[in-house]
Amino acid sequence: MVESVNEQGATVEVADDHVVVRSQGVVRRFHHVWLRDNCPCGECRVVATGERRLFTADIDDAIAPSAVRATGGGDLDIDWNDGHRSGFSAAWLAHHDYSAPGHGSRDAGEVPILWDAELMPQPPHFEHDRILADDAEQLAYLDALRLYGAAVVSGVPSVPGQSEVFAEAIGHVREVAFERVHNVFHDPEGYNVAHTPVELKPHTDMPSYHWPPSVQLLHFLVNQADGGETVLVDGWRVLADLRREDPAAFELLVRVPVTYQLFSETEDTYARSPMIQLGPGGEVTCFRFSNQLALPLDAAFETVGPFYRAYRRLGRMIDDDRYRVEFKARDGDLITVHGHRVLHGRLAFDPASGARHLQDIYMEFDDLMARRRVLRGGHKPMLAGPVVAAS
Ligand SMILES: [Zn+2]
Repeated sequence: MVESVNEQGATVEVADDHVVVRSQGVVRRFHHVWLRDNCPCGECRVVATGERRLFTADIDDAIAPSAVRATGGGDLDIDWNDGHRSGFSAAWLAHHDYSAPGHGSRDAGEVPILWDAELMPQPPHFEHDRILADDAEQLAYLDALRLYGAAVVSGVPSVPGQSEVFAEAIGHVREVAFERVHNVFHDPEGYNVAHTPVELKPHTDMPSYHWPPSVQLLHFLVNQADGGETVLVDGWRVLADLRREDPAAFELLVRVPVTYQLFSETEDTYARSPMIQLGPGGEVTCFRFSNQLALPLDAAFETVGPFYRAYRRLGRMIDDDRYRVEFKARDGDLITVHGHRVLHGRLAFDPASGARHLQDIYMEFDDLMARRRVLRGGHKPMLAGPVVAAS
């Protein structure tokens, strides 16, 4: 039943629980309750911020249009059976058309580029002063983090606390137990293995939090000791390969929780979580890999054998040259990694051969992506109105 045809040939049809808008050869469908819920008027929204005032649960179960009009190039005007009236612009409807195939979030289509040593022999490099002085350069740096999960910032002053200054210039520091700015240098009395000169296998930090820090900055104030090359591994790339080559191992690592602990005299962080966490589309969202901080496995007896097979296979992949990007950080380099994706490690170094001091600080990926959206200018949602004039 065609309810309304306008002069440009746009039509609106009211079906059982949804509305069909046909305009310029495109068919869009929207549920009654969805449209009523998204009414842009000043009664239903705080217009300045777009926040919803209408309490969604209060919408009548029997909500339906009593009259519909298609205006202009597909703007939609609805009189509701609860006495309310709503108007939606064609552009807004097109942007939010969930009936279109493949329609998703506004980040849809921005798929991370998974890399190995051949695809990305060195992480993308940026200059500290340019990132801070030039929005376009800062955006390029954030783009690199979004796509590759890793970037090196060169020319950071070799002064303690500069990683914090940099973090606060582009976002916010994620506080954790222990120190806000964490010092790594050779210290036989230190509370973890980072304070020794031995090799550190690729790992993610703070798996002992249920939400580990999602960005890590490692600032090399001085790196003059022999050895100690940095190793980066795209964990999501390794997992994509594991998933294809050994799906049973992958599924086990998604399912079996592992406990992690990091403590000191005054702190005790502890979390129990599978090493791999998936998002609603089945994509990997969080990978924690920390051989050094995993507590004894406490799983069903018959799971322990298969788990070790899967975990050891994954560990051999992570340690394989095929995936490892290796480089010697220079004084003033600040390595940035997506902490839920890219693993970092280092080769052994000779503490007698020269000074080695780096400072670590954490941030959250969401905050950096917020900064990126602001720099791109696309952070304010499209207005659904203005309300179409009465006919
Ligand atoms: Zn309204």
